[in-house]
Amino acid sequence: MGLRVFNTLSRSVETFVPLDPAGKKVGLYCCGPTVHDFAHIGNFRTFVFADIVRRHLSFRGFNVRHVMNITDVEDKIIRRVNESGKSLAEFTGEHERAFFADLEALGCQMPDERPHATGFIGPIIKLIKRLESNGFAYRTDDGSVYFSIEKYREAGNQYGQLLNLNLEAMRPGERVSNDEYEKESIADFALWKARVPEDGEVFWDSQWGEGRPGWHIECSAMSMELLGPSFDLHLGGEDLVFPHHEDEIAQSEGACLQCDGQKFVKYWMHGAHLLVEGKKMSKSLGNFFTLRDLLAKGSTGREVRYLMISAHYRETFNFTLDNLAGAKTALGRIDECTAKLRELALGQATEPATNSPLVSHFTEAMDDDLNVSAAWGSVFDWVRDTNRKLAANELTAESAATELANWEHINSVLGIESVEEEAPPEIIALAGERQAARKAKDFTRSDQIRDELAAQGWTIEDTPKGPRVKRH
Ligand code: AMP
Ligand code: ZN
Repeated sequence: MGLRVFNTLSRSVETFVPLDPAGKKVGLYCCGPTVHDFAHIGNFRTFVFADIVRRHLSFRGFNVRHVMNITDVEDKIIRRVNESGKSLAEFTGEHERAFFADLEALGCQMPDERPHATGFIGPIIKLIKRLESNGFAYRTDDGSVYFSIEKYREAGNQYGQLLNLNLEAMRPGERVSNDEYEKESIADFALWKARVPEDGEVFWDSQWGEGRPGWHIECSAMSMELLGPSFDLHLGGEDLVFPHHEDEIAQSEGACLQCDGQKFVKYWMHGAHLLVEGKKMSKSLGNFFTLRDLLAKGSTGREVRYLMISAHYRETFNFTLDNLAGAKTALGRIDECTAKLRELALGQATEPATNSPLVSHFTEAMDDDLNVSAAWGSVFDWVRDTNRKLAANELTAESAATELANWEHINSVLGIESVEEEAPPEIIALAGERQAARKAKDFTRSDQIRDELAAQGWTIEDTPKGPRVKRH
């Protein structure tokens, strides 16, 4: 049946058909972090969701270009830069490095492009100029530039594509200059903000005078610049639907860069929020966690990842420390099963089977708008079945290798990296003996030991720090 996803634009599940006439290339944009602090685990739920979408698309044979921006200039950042006494680049650079380290610890693949808003000031200015010449942007006395929702609508455009907005009731007709404005009202929003003393040294020159971009225009400019004026998928957390994504649509479609009849984005997917112990995260409630907090408590990135991808992305997820303990147990079951298969397969590498129930059930489940509950169901059915076959000695080295390949194939989507098994003392002793034989230039003996280790499923790697044994 192929991949189906819930599109916020149509509020329904649709078959995924990329814009590429060859049906191969997919452009994916996910709003990235605002680097003003350590990202919390709620933020990472959204980034892990984007990682799963990207991985599943690749698994289904699409050629994905994944863009995730870094918002490195906006209101909160400027406030924090001023408090810190650091330069903008120094301040945001520190948080960005921490962000990517956490993203890696969570087993996420690096987005192909990681554009910075500050690196796209030229395209941002160009886009605002275009909106101005199309009549959808106006200047204010202080030298700022705003987007006019009224002019945009008068020209026959729809403001409120992602959700139904009651424009008459919600529109008090004022303007907002701050990046994160109230969700209860609709207002013209800033595209370019004139420099004010509190901005310190954070400003750029433009035809409207010194200033800086608004947050919404940054994403429109970076996404269209890198993926073209129309692209396939735009992702983000549900809180971004309004106003951020609605404003992105208005700016991008208001610039009229799309071909006739094309939208800025074909499919919008939004991830639901993460709550901690049933509540919104807040420092005063003491339930505010960064990944670092959890690692310091002894958890691992893969346990946190497992937990995040155990719930459907459109369901609010309740994160608890008890659930995290459950994640460890569940992963332990998978690890135990794959370790036994590895032992039996004796290092044979093979292709996944074309008729594997694991692969077909998993694919069907994930194709159904990423139905992870059914996908994990197929994994644990497989673990149970494989354990039974192992206990009954029903698997040969070849079939164990195929089962492992099946698992690795679907694990390219789940991204649960395998843990390295520690070598038992007798294997370490043999490796030591081989090292001594090599020192004594007894290569016949050292080769013999290498073969013996290989027969038991271990490989010796000579690293700059000395030899290391690992499972093959
Ligand atoms: P920010 O760095 O604040 O711009 O947020 C980065 C991403 O995290 C955005 O896509 C937000 O929608 C998302 N996000 C923020 N809070 C949560 C939460 N509690 N659960 C899931 N995603 C969140
Ligand atoms: Zn964005």
